[in-house]
Amino acid sequence: MSKFRDRRAAFRERTEQGIKEREKTGGRFSCLNLAKVEGVNFFKPTSDKKHRNEIDIIPFLATQDWISKMRSFNGAVLGINPGDMLYKFEVPGHPRIGSEERTFLCLKAAFGKSCPICNEREALKENQDADEDLIKSLYPKWRVFYNVRDRNEEDKEKRRKVWDAPYHSFEKFFLEEADMGEDGVVIFADPEEGKTIRFKGRKKNFSGREYLEADSIEFLDRKKQYDEDDIKGSISFDKYLKMPIYEEVEKAYLGLDDDKKSGKKRKERKEEENE
Ligand SMILES: [Zn+2]
Repeated sequence: MSKFRDRRAAFRERTEQGIKEREKTGGRFSCLNLAKVEGVNFFKPTSDKKHRNEIDIIPFLATQDWISKMRSFNGAVLGINPGDMLYKFEVPGHPRIGSEERTFLCLKAAFGKSCPICNEREALKENQDADEDLIKSLYPKWRVFYNVRDRNEEDKEKRRKVWDAPYHSFEKFFLEEADMGEDGVVIFADPEEGKTIRFKGRKKNFSGREYLEADSIEFLDRKKQYDEDDIKGSISFDKYLKMPIYEEVEKAYLGLDDDKKSGKKRKERKEEENE
């Protein structure tokens, strides 16, 4: 029938597949250049015991030709085309590379190409004396970007937000909760039959670093559903992915890039990590 309906059907099918085929690997990230988008508000889940987080996830339309070749967290090629709907953008990155502590897209996890950081990690694994922690730090960390409506935001105008979340703390749990076994799956991000996700932010601690994780997830009927205009109004995250070239990442890792490190930058980064 309508193009929108076809897109939606394909979208539901992909979501279902994603939920069924999910696997474990990965972690955390930030390598989109969202500074280019005007007026982006970021969603930050709360751990406040009195307030549960309540969000609706709104799909976006893919725009880039390479999107068909990109891989998702479970290693499968997305196989979608520009114009198709996605509710999340899963991005593998190598954080804190070089003196500027930049985050680079992992070309291997994202596209199956050669990645200097992954190559280094594999080389270190061959070396018996190599530092285990260093090896661990060289695995790509997965982050997930969503367009959300923050239902707890009083100001209607400010409800529209972007959520940059570590895969293992949220998406993993949403997918687990959405999988109802024989009863099928909850297509929580469907524009017309989706659900409001309500969850607690549970504080966790790993290696002295505090972070939040989704807990007590519930899928509630939405007060309002969404339409094609809402989807068109979502940020197409693929447009803002910084695509590095091999040599650039290699230079940064080896410390051959310009040393522009500043105290402020490091401080900002620390704060981001503590979110
Ligand atoms: Zn890599």
